[in-house]
Amino acid sequence: MTTLPTTEPASDTASSVDYDAIVIGAGFGGIYMLHKLRNELGLSVRAYDRAAGVGGTWYWNRYPGALSDTEGFVYRYSFDKDLLQDYDWSTRYLKQADILAYLEHVVERFDLAKDIQLNTGIAAAVFDDRTNRWTVTTEQGETVTATYVVTALGLLSKINMPDIPGIETFAGDIIHTGAWPDQHELAGKRVGVIGNGSTGQQVISAVAPEVEHLTAFVRTPQYSVPAGDRPMTADEVTAIKGDFDSIWDQVRNSVVAFGFEESAVPAMSVSEEERQRVFQENWDIGGGFRFMFGTFCDIATDPEANEAAASFIRSKIQEIVKDPEKARILTPTDLYARRPLCANHYYETFNRDNVSVADLKQYPIVEITPEGVRTADGKLHELDVLILATGFDAVDGNYMAMDLRGRGGRTINEAWADAPTSFLGITTNGFPNMFMILGPNGPFTNLPPSIETQVEWISKLVAEAQTREAAVEPTAEAEQAWTETCQTIADMTLFPKVDSWIFGANVPGKTKTVMFYIGGLANYRAQLAEVEDAGFRGFEFVPARATVPA
Ligand code: FAD
Ligand code: NAP
Repeated sequence: MTTLPTTEPASDTASSVDYDAIVIGAGFGGIYMLHKLRNELGLSVRAYDRAAGVGGTWYWNRYPGALSDTEGFVYRYSFDKDLLQDYDWSTRYLKQADILAYLEHVVERFDLAKDIQLNTGIAAAVFDDRTNRWTVTTEQGETVTATYVVTALGLLSKINMPDIPGIETFAGDIIHTGAWPDQHELAGKRVGVIGNGSTGQQVISAVAPEVEHLTAFVRTPQYSVPAGDRPMTADEVTAIKGDFDSIWDQVRNSVVAFGFEESAVPAMSVSEEERQRVFQENWDIGGGFRFMFGTFCDIATDPEANEAAASFIRSKIQEIVKDPEKARILTPTDLYARRPLCANHYYETFNRDNVSVADLKQYPIVEITPEGVRTADGKLHELDVLILATGFDAVDGNYMAMDLRGRGGRTINEAWADAPTSFLGITTNGFPNMFMILGPNGPFTNLPPSIETQVEWISKLVAEAQTREAAVEPTAEAEQAWTETCQTIADMTLFPKVDSWIFGANVPGKTKTVMFYIGGLANYRAQLAEVEDAGFRGFEFVPARATVPA
């Protein structure tokens, strides 16, 4: 891993520096935003991240087995043709370290490090109605001001710590996968993993061979298909590089932007034999989104089609997992309507003698003791290490954790008290000149192409605000209409019928609500183009009061 120069937080707490723009977060979103605003619009920009390195998700999630489940050829930026040609990869999916190295390369390539201040959390950002400027305060007490604030805080970034009685008494190590230390020795230890989403499945499959014993604590079993990871030859990579123009064209004009053609065939329009053939073919190729969207067009919308896919996966679990009791615990019975998962050899891992499964649905966790985890059947699962693969306070989690105040001093917590909302996933009423990357009700896709779409559009909106010498914010009506659009589209799918993070239903006490535009990237881009073509319809441009003659 390359070590980037780290900009230390300023120690002079009294100093105040003025910028055109502040970017909060240095993951995929923040890195590209900094490049765009500084290198293309020519603004003075400072980016901040609480982390000690750039990379966002790929800085924090260093757990064993951490892997992108978007194929590597489209889990990257597309904005620079030379970058696309220069940067190589050698496996179908990219490992955490590969993606981190890639993002570090991008930072170096575009000379961004000098304007990224690491080890610096942003505690507060407060808008001044009179001057149309933001005052931004770091967790170290440094204060800067800026005309624009871009929040690239990450939608899967604020970790979800379970509130389990006695958790603080555990004598071994407790590690959340989203804050994994650089080195952690698991060999020869008794390890428990709570959670079996994307993360849990990856970590379980990766650590099982090295630990003495692994206990998977499963509350809601999930449908999973093979990832189908494999090495890629240099010839395959060269062929993809030669085809990038049409690949990105397809991605931008698709629904989920994962780099495969989505099916247009309804599942029930073909014979049972053909259905099974298609499921098997895609199971063999691997990939969760491919299985849900590349097999048939209505798995996520039609209950009968959904059940056909679900029962195919259930039959695979029965076939693969030899112990009938383990297979029972691992077999989902509800709709196949969470984010579609894939993993390398996940179900096969449960055939290992050193892997057991605790059924939390039947026997929930009662407490954590110094020795391990006690479940409702009275059993104490003795552990040396407890891994929490319990996910994230997704989408708005990092917003609610900041003291973010818009017009009239209204906090984001007040503005989003009922539910987090936005216009176009990018802006929210009452917070002028604040632009969100992957804010609430943004697109539900492979994320780098959506991030690029948003960053490029934000740049246009900033340029427009510069020209008009005014602060820009969406009207409450435009925001309301966008929320309704997102709700209407979500209601056409099966996703809201199941509790998961994509509707904010994974964190106790959080309101279940629509959090994504599920209409696909092509439609999302069309919506953005339409708003822009109509002179940024739905936005108000308000000059600073301090500059308006009395
Ligand atoms: P992030 O990468 O999350 O970066 C946000 C940054 O903001 C963080 O570094 C954080 O420290 C910083 N930050 C937040 N609040 C503050 C603050 N107040 N002050 C300072 N800094 C702050 N997506 C896909 O499309 N395909 C995949 O295969 C895929 N795999 C994933 C695997 C894992 C393990 C996880 C957790 C997510 C995955 N995702 C995947 C989603 C992934 O988060 C996005 O693809 C992408 O990396 C998001 O980039 P980002 O810049 O928007 O946010
Ligand atoms: P997640 O999908 O929200 O899964 C969290 C898991 O923890 C669930 O199994 C949940 O069970 C369990 N859990 C939470 N609190 C619990 C408690 N108190 N007791 C018992 N179990 C508890 O989180 P994630 O796996 O980290 O994935 C989040 C998202 O990150 C993914 O959907 C994906 O978008 C992204 N991601 C992608 C990859 C990849 O393959 N590229 C890898 C990792 C993450 P319940 O279901 O019962 O609540």
